[in-house]
Amino acid sequence: MNRENKRKMYEKGYYKTHPCAESFTCRVCGRPVVSVGAGSGHRNHCPNCLSSLHLDDEPGDRTADCGGVMDPVAVWVRKNREWAVIHRCRRCGTLHSNRVAADDNPMKLMSIAMKPLCEPPFPLERIEEMTALMGGNGCLNG
Ligand SMILES: [Zn+2]
Ligand SMILES: [Zn+2]
Repeated sequence: MNRENKRKMYEKGYYKTHPCAESFTCRVCGRPVVSVGAGSGHRNHCPNCLSSLHLDDEPGDRTADCGGVMDPVAVWVRKNREWAVIHRCRRCGTLHSNRVAADDNPMKLMSIAMKPLCEPPFPLERIEEMTALMGGNGCLNG
């Protein structure tokens, strides 16, 4: 790589406009992560355990100095029915939303999505009671 390219790589926002072809070893599960197979230019989390590192303030800008491990804490569905993962930084608590990649571990994604349903903050047997209380109008006080 010549010096001009190297300088460009470290400019703010480089990864916003250039595909990230870096490979790295996942700090959480130890899996070697390569950018091939992601289905998009950006590979910002491990396809196996879905963990990420807090390197960006905006996706791809590499301006965060934190460097903490970001755990996948939730999934949500975007307007176009595409799934995205919410990452939360262990060190500073920052939340980021990231598109899932083509080869992300589907079982891991499902288990994150199911987690709140498996650990509801109220007894599951009360759902029937609560539904009756709502009287079908969707309001607990009605
Ligand atoms: Zn991993
Ligand atoms: Zn952080």
